[in-house]
Amino acid sequence: MTSIQSSDQGQAPLQKLRAYLHTTQLLGSIQSALYYDQNTAMPAAGSEWRGEQLALLAQQLHGRQSSGAYADLLAAAEAQWEGAPGPMGRNLQLLRQEFERQHRLDAALVGHIAQAQAQGYARWQEAKAKGDFSVFAPSLQVLVGLRQEQASQLAEPRSCWETLAQPFEPDISKARLDVLFAPLRQELPALIERARSAASRQPSTAWDLPESSQLKLCQELLNGWGFDPNRCQTARSPHPFSCTLGPADFRITTRVVAGQPLSALLATAHEWGHSLYEQGLPRSGDHYFPWPLGDATSMGVHESQSLFWECRVGRSQAFAQGLEPSIAAAWSLANPGGGANPGSPSPWRNSQGFWRCLNPLEPGMIRVEADEISYCLHIVLRYELELALLDGDLPVAELPGHWNQRMAELLDLRPSHDSEGCLQDVHWSEGLFGYFPSYALGHLISAQLGEAMERDLGGAGSIEARVAKGDGASLKQWLAEHVYPLGRQVNGEELVKQVSGQDLRAEPFLAYLRAKLERLVAP
Ligand SMILES: [Zn+2]
Repeated sequence: MTSIQSSDQGQAPLQKLRAYLHTTQLLGSIQSALYYDQNTAMPAAGSEWRGEQLALLAQQLHGRQSSGAYADLLAAAEAQWEGAPGPMGRNLQLLRQEFERQHRLDAALVGHIAQAQAQGYARWQEAKAKGDFSVFAPSLQVLVGLRQEQASQLAEPRSCWETLAQPFEPDISKARLDVLFAPLRQELPALIERARSAASRQPSTAWDLPESSQLKLCQELLNGWGFDPNRCQTARSPHPFSCTLGPADFRITTRVVAGQPLSALLATAHEWGHSLYEQGLPRSGDHYFPWPLGDATSMGVHESQSLFWECRVGRSQAFAQGLEPSIAAAWSLANPGGGANPGSPSPWRNSQGFWRCLNPLEPGMIRVEADEISYCLHIVLRYELELALLDGDLPVAELPGHWNQRMAELLDLRPSHDSEGCLQDVHWSEGLFGYFPSYALGHLISAQLGEAMERDLGGAGSIEARVAKGDGASLKQWLAEHVYPLGRQVNGEELVKQVSGQDLRAEPFLAYLRAKLERLVAP
């Protein structure tokens, strides 16, 4: 039997499984709604009760995903499907894979990891505040040991690090990442040097816009990019994020940073890219909601979608030219006498200067503030150190020394304390290993999909040409046709190959950077 549209009796196992998954999805989305509220609206005193609410839901979700009742439902559906190919076969294969992963883990280990994460996060915050890695080191040692134990219980035919990376980037391997990252290691330092040589042309960054103007600009950007208030709402949070609360309920957040007038706008562009992808995933009909095929392909593909709208569109010269009059009007309103530059129309001088404001080219210590050129070297650094910690023999105590040494080699920068070195990211405080490469893959995937898009839309430069005409809709339409519908039918690399006709590689990203850099540093 290969159709879910067959006889009533034949439908029973799949329908029962579907109903079970539907309830699991409802619980998961209640968890997301609580998380969204916690980060956007909840008063501080609510945190203790919220913690209990989230813990209760987490327990219930874990129970549902590993219960005997679920195992029976899945087995009955598999028996009905009898290994036939097609979307439902793929759904069942993915559900089986996830069930086995949950099932192989000892419940005691799951509890120990949750405890170590809570403790690790608290120790990391303390260590970061003091700039002292030794405060966090014992917790990190415990987390490394527990994650190694987790990988050994999962017993996949992969290294420890590769096993831990699978949930973020299905089928990824160290050998593949080494091939993809080698050209970045080789070529990015020279591009950074080229950018440094033109540093004197960077316009003043000592200007700002009122919060209200920034939020208004964010909403204008969203309105121009197809925002539908019936399906999406926005809010502010300490760290911008996007989340899906239901098949027709999407949220994004942004934040206003003092002294960084374009930060909220770029964060909005980034999170809107994530949200557009979520909104475009196949989430209707019996095949897709709540089946796994309606989920994102991988974290790398997800990030490629946010980076496309943030960098390829939002930081493009065409977009800068269109945006400048609105920014100039907001700036003049806030600085009626010309502010610090009386008589000057704006702190960025001219349109090329404003484009440079959207693309500061200054390698720094902090990954989340890095420019497009240096960003991937921050990821290479973390990837190498994670491998050494989990698959190699790097003792935890030696992490800061190795971090600082590789930072000097890759970016020619030397952290003055651990807070701007190996303590800067939250990921390791929760033992989250294997995630970082997805950020770099997002840049590579975005560039290669961008090339394929330009091939279809009129050749090199056609993305900027459409942006110049205010035609973001055709870019979105292309993504909605080629990228969004695939969901988990494929992995990240298969998606790129299917859409672009070629294996994923670093060259399209490097070519994009080289061309953009030359235009940015031009007098
Ligand atoms: Zn993102």
